[in-house]
Amino acid sequence: MLNTAILSELQALLGVERARADAETLALYASDETPKSCLPDAVLFPASHADVVAIVRLANRHRLALVARGAGSGNVGGAMPVTGSLVISFECMNRVVEFDPANRLVVVEPGVVTDDIDAIAATAGLMYAPDPGSGAYCRIGGNLAMNAAGPRCVKYGATRDHVLGLRAVTGDGREIRVGGRTTKYATAYDLSRLLVGSEGTLALITEATLKLIPAPESIATLRVCYAGNAAACAAVSRVMTQPVVPSALEFMDRHAIEAIREYGAAEGLPAGTQAVLMVEADGAAADVPRQIAALKTALTGEGLLEIQSGFTAADIADLWIARKSLSHAVKKIAPLKINEDVVVPVARLANLVNAVDALGKRHGVPIVSFGHAGNGNLHVNLMVHADDAEEMARAQACRDALIEAVLGLGGSLSGEHGIGSEKRGYVGRELDASTLTMMRDVKQLFDPLGLLNPGKKLPDA
Ligand SMILES: Cc1cc2nc3c(=O)[nH]c(=O)nc-3n(C[C@H](O)[C@H](O)[C@H](O)COP(=O)(O)OP(=O)(O)OC[C@H]3O[C@@H](n4cnc5c(N)ncnc54)[C@H](O)[C@@H]3O)c2cc1C
Repeated sequence: MLNTAILSELQALLGVERARADAETLALYASDETPKSCLPDAVLFPASHADVVAIVRLANRHRLALVARGAGSGNVGGAMPVTGSLVISFECMNRVVEFDPANRLVVVEPGVVTDDIDAIAATAGLMYAPDPGSGAYCRIGGNLAMNAAGPRCVKYGATRDHVLGLRAVTGDGREIRVGGRTTKYATAYDLSRLLVGSEGTLALITEATLKLIPAPESIATLRVCYAGNAAACAAVSRVMTQPVVPSALEFMDRHAIEAIREYGAAEGLPAGTQAVLMVEADGAAADVPRQIAALKTALTGEGLLEIQSGFTAADIADLWIARKSLSHAVKKIAPLKINEDVVVPVARLANLVNAVDALGKRHGVPIVSFGHAGNGNLHVNLMVHADDAEEMARAQACRDALIEAVLGLGGSLSGEHGIGSEKRGYVGRELDASTLTMMRDVKQLFDPLGLLNPGKKLPDA
């Protein structure tokens, strides 16, 4: 519990409404999407960069841990408080500071909702490309901290690839500006790339200058059904080795299709469908049909059952129905989803999918896999009952074996969800000792007292 003198200090700094320690507020900010929680000592709502600087300096005087928070939609415990911590919720820092279409950039505070950035860009025929599935409510500060990505990233790259510059406050209260406003920049060490994906452990991001690109004139979608995982993975390889880069290349495995059938959302999928690819092309209206033709050629091969095309908004929405129903559909299998967000070099996706299938059988755990196939990024969901200790132990063994398989394929623990508190136990398996030491040295430089998001990202020494 927070010392009342410190709470008064915080309230004097921010105002009573922006520094809260009432039970209701603490409970509201006790967790993210991870099915765990921990009450913070207080929740702070800074309204400006200056507020953030003042909070960090106060936290340094009193040695208080600080946990940054966007919308709390992360699923690895990144924004989950730790005992005795103060949550800094950026939801009130939600201004678009500057929209500069002539220079194709936007300057935003961290609390701006991701889709709102794309909506503003659209008013000038531009686009903010990263499109996480949570875009309607997650905030750009959380996206930057996690290097969030989405379907479009196979063509356009993840959040990191769309950052020109950042303003931030380090763990010891220093104010830094990294990067700039230009698409070419060779002056400084690239600290903005370091801060993106640092999960609130190095600095608190208070402003971001983001790159915008021309919005495509036209989009078309293909829903492609296959008789098995192997046929779909072979098609992914063919697509990724020909010149037309799709603007989405999403995969659903056999178990995902079964879940969708059970849920009643598989209307239109031909009998025998065991795997589905969702493929999109975008660009100039005159060029999209050419792209679609090339993609269809690459998608055609052994095991293909059907290709459905959508060129209008209504048809495209129809084709996505099965995929969009998936997160509800899997809940029928078991109440708890242990979500691994592993990634492998794209040509090894088939090996990963096979390994997942074999592990599910060996450990007796239902696994539903889907994800961003074009990036080799698979969401492997182990469906379990939290109150069944024996099943949970099997799931843990399965999870360990999955990580071994992924690392053996030259892959990584996380493609987009990050490490947080939930995956840091595995980080030492992927990174060698000297790399980890270097990362700890970097953390020490930015945050000498270790106040920013302790117990996240880095494994214990
Ligand atoms: C239904 C659903 C779909 C999803 N789909 C995707 C997807 O397609 N792609 C994807 O990448 N993720 C996805 N996610 C995960 C999640 O939405 C992303 O990780 C997102 O970037 C988190 O944003 P947030 O605002 O909710 O951040 P939070 O969860 O609040 O925080 C995430 C991390 O960012 C840190 N942080 C927040 N703000 C700041 C700041 N200003 N400075 C420094 N650190 C900060 C926090 O400390 C924490 O470590 C999904 C989640 C859900 C629930």
